[in-house]
Amino acid sequence: MNIAIIGGGPAGLMAAEAASAAGARVDLYDAMASVGRKFLLAGKGGLNLTHSEPSEKFLSRYGARRMQIAPLLASFGPDALRAWARGLGIETFVGSSGRVFPTDLKAAPLLRAWLRRLRKAGVQFHVRHRWIGWDEQGALSFATPEGNHAVQADAVVLALGGGSWPKLGSDASWVPLLAERGTQIVPLQPANCGFDVGWSEHFRTKFAGHPVKSVAVVVPSKTGTESWHPGEFVITETGVEGGVIYAVSASLRNEILAKGVATVRLDLAPDRDLPRLTHDLSRPRGKRTMATHIQRQAHIEGVKAGLLREVVSKEDFADPARLAAAIKSLPLKLVAPRPLEEAISTAGGVPFEALDERLMIRTLPGIFCAGEMLDWEAPTGGYLLTACFAAGRTAGAGAATWLTEGGKMGGWGRLKDE
Ligand SMILES: Cc1cc2nc3c(=O)[nH]c(=O)nc-3n(C[C@H](O)[C@H](O)[C@H](O)COP(=O)(O)OP(=O)(O)OC[C@H]3O[C@@H](n4cnc5c(N)ncnc54)[C@H](O)[C@@H]3O)c2cc1C
Repeated sequence: MNIAIIGGGPAGLMAAEAASAAGARVDLYDAMASVGRKFLLAGKGGLNLTHSEPSEKFLSRYGARRMQIAPLLASFGPDALRAWARGLGIETFVGSSGRVFPTDLKAAPLLRAWLRRLRKAGVQFHVRHRWIGWDEQGALSFATPEGNHAVQADAVVLALGGGSWPKLGSDASWVPLLAERGTQIVPLQPANCGFDVGWSEHFRTKFAGHPVKSVAVVVPSKTGTESWHPGEFVITETGVEGGVIYAVSASLRNEILAKGVATVRLDLAPDRDLPRLTHDLSRPRGKRTMATHIQRQAHIEGVKAGLLREVVSKEDFADPARLAAAIKSLPLKLVAPRPLEEAISTAGGVPFEALDERLMIRTLPGIFCAGEMLDWEAPTGGYLLTACFAAGRTAGAGAATWLTEGGKMGGWGRLKDE
């Protein structure tokens, strides 16, 4: 049996490993000149492979899709992933936040060892092969530097990624190819993304690039309650990104989609309550400037003071009680998520309802899907890679099992309207 894997990110490589272990001849195709580019980028800031928190909490990170992700993690979850990395000679450790990293924090040694093992197992790699659909005979069609190339396979695993950072290979060009074959696709959206605020010229030139530390972001929920998220984020040329903003980005994105705007509240002094802050700021200021006064009394300076000046009226800034209230609850209006290309990950994609439990597209027998191209999302923290690895394993093993059970490809040669 011959299984074609298209896409050489974590999901595709894991699918290749599982299919090969099940006895299939595996050919892996990727559009780029080398595989695993986004994985390597993920390793630049410290490769966060997975998380050590208890499984219930871990699963809750997948929100509305936890039920569908659960069986994938049940067969290849965080512990299995760490053991697998160990098998490649890569030890991992649990950081202070509970996140799990390779000891050297890097992705490259892991990827190198993995590719070596896959090649040894007989997996054939075909880079610079961009999948462009099916030809008239129903063969997979690839654009290569030498022209188009047709490939027949007994089963196919698509692991083509989402639409973020397209220059690393995953450019979402698969969306129309599957849609025109009648596969339902939930529109792709940025996940773990920044947001536009629209700063004044003065604030932007002074503070773009500055981190805002020891802050909490208060996010309203649909039910009228608020959730409080301590952490840090970064001021950008157009708005905010990073850390705690990514953590709450799904609900903010959805709020903007529904209402055109999302207003969060910043607590710029999370370790002091309002009465204390009001008391401190009401102390006599003497000849000191207001800037020096709030720095002394409330430890608010630099970018935090800049944020207050940006948002609070002159009158409120001069009034200790109203200034204290603003420090504890500064409204920040987010007007748009940053584009998908800039996001860390992608929401939307092929919904689980279109797939069977082996991740085969129900209407395209023999075509399996894995990784970020599926419709789920999760915050940063290792949850993205963990689910990609797990889905790749399920799809790769599933394709092999389906073939041994006598599965026959079909359906993919027909366009939706034929
Ligand atoms: C800056 C950054 C840092 C990150 N850090 C982390 C982290 O620390 N921890 C974490 O869990 N996650 C992290 N992520 C997310 C993680 O890297 C992705 O979720 C993961 O790589 C997705 O895996 P995938 O295999 O589904 O897709 P990808 O890794 O995107 O791989 C898809 C592959 O398919 C190929 N492809 C696409 N279209 C075609 C086509 N038409 N024909 C042929 N080949 C094609 C691409 O070239 C690519 O190689 C980070 C992401 C970014 C951008």
